Amino acid sequence: MQQSDIDVLRAQPLAARGHFINGQSHDATDGATLDVISPIDGKKITQIAAGTPADVDKAVASARAAFEDGRWSKAAPSARKKVLLKLADLIEQRALEIAVLGVMDNGTEINMAFKAEAMSAAATFRYYGEAIDKIYGEIAPTAPNILGLVHHSPVGVVGAIVPWNFPLMIGSWKIAPALAAGNSIVLKPAESASLSLLKIAELAIEAGLPEGVFNVVTGSGSVVGEALALSMDVDILVFTGSGATGRKLLEYSARSNLKRCYLELGGKSPNIVFADAPDLANAAKISAAGIFRNSGQVCVAGSRLLVHEDIHDEFVTEICRHAENYKVGDPLDLNSQIGAVHSQHELEANLDFVIKAEAEGAQRRTGGERILQETGGYYMPPTVMSGVKPKDQLFQNEVFGPVLAVTSFKDENEAIQLANSTSYGLAAGVWTSNLSRAHRMVSNIRAGVVHVNTYGGADLTVPLGGVKQSGNGHDKSLHAMDKYFDLKTAWIQL
Ligand code: ADP
Repeated sequence: MQQSDIDVLRAQPLAARGHFINGQSHDATDGATLDVISPIDGKKITQIAAGTPADVDKAVASARAAFEDGRWSKAAPSARKKVLLKLADLIEQRALEIAVLGVMDNGTEINMAFKAEAMSAAATFRYYGEAIDKIYGEIAPTAPNILGLVHHSPVGVVGAIVPWNFPLMIGSWKIAPALAAGNSIVLKPAESASLSLLKIAELAIEAGLPEGVFNVVTGSGSVVGEALALSMDVDILVFTGSGATGRKLLEYSARSNLKRCYLELGGKSPNIVFADAPDLANAAKISAAGIFRNSGQVCVAGSRLLVHEDIHDEFVTEICRHAENYKVGDPLDLNSQIGAVHSQHELEANLDFVIKAEAEGAQRRTGGERILQETGGYYMPPTVMSGVKPKDQLFQNEVFGPVLAVTSFKDENEAIQLANSTSYGLAAGVWTSNLSRAHRMVSNIRAGVVHVNTYGGADLTVPLGGVKQSGNGHDKSLHAMDKYFDLKTAWIQL
């Protein structure tokens, strides 16, 4: 990746973008638009259609028509596979262009955006494309005069609502398996991170996806998202975002057609360091990356550091050293290691958490203030708060920013009790060289994933999903496909 290539791409003017419905760009029915503000410098870079309920209806009707006439839902698995593999190739070929586009509106540092957004989206389409012709139905073990067949039927129209932190990665985790299973989709990206997903919808047509199968409606959550979730013709809803919105989606489902809702709702993930960790210096380095990468705007971020009291002081000093060494700056500068906070609203919310934590008695060890204000962009350095108590807001609530809450513990039981004492259950980390303890921790921590002697690593082969109020259902792996199929039984008297 060359800085000069990035600079050329960022200098290109961005045309205003409409919805993508039935294979074509459409303005909002009332012509309304939303400004897209870049977190890099706080300036407007383009505008997108501000969707209305009528736009959502149009997109849902297009998805329904495509589903019912079978142009995709009844296409041969080998034909669907070919399209998804081609789409993966197209994304890969244009990965830098797509990554830069995404960074312009979401602020993620370009090295990470290239890998975790564009290239990971390509890998996701390839993974589910490959899966299409390897999933079999079942023949039930019935009596000999009966043939019991269990078919995997696509559910129909999938509504997908995704957030701004990794729009392409998270969007692909939903779009790819939904398409692989033969469904049609109406996607609503976050209003502040729609550009790269609109690009994917265009490339899907180039790859051979029939028009109408994959539609994108842009605009606000409270209008477009709500209309999608209330639609009587959307069969399931898949969502990643905040718990507050997740609750609303369940209400919308109850008020409409009882569509199934799969919710990934973030976390307050404990990263637990025992004194017998195999390599404390490495543990500090990886733990710092586990909270600070992408400015902490990661659902599985290890945002609560629980450290054994014997090593607390030295470990916190080491974490602070890493925090201070990160170069925060323009996300399209290859020298930056951490880019921008996504928006002014998020920046203010992050800073507010720091102020409240200090008021509750925590100590600010490093960071905690806005930086690079002269750029007009939204930047905040990695921030470490120690002495955070279980009842504190910083212990209980997801910041979704670069703020680490540190708490010490005395023994394994206390570590487990602290780890489990929030309403979340998405991810966790444990650092120990005691194999039995590692297994006990994996078994006793209530979370969708427990990392051992590392933090934050994963690939497509393993599922991601939360327990407790972190949500339900799974993205990634073949388990993700379960959401996008209905099981249909044929009971045949022979
Ligand atoms: P975050 O705090 O990460 O922005 P949100 O839950 O607000 O999380 O946003 C995640 C996605 O949910 C975005 O696409 C947003 O537009 C959408 N959204 C927000 N409010 C609603 C709502 N009331 N109904 C449906 N979708 C919504």
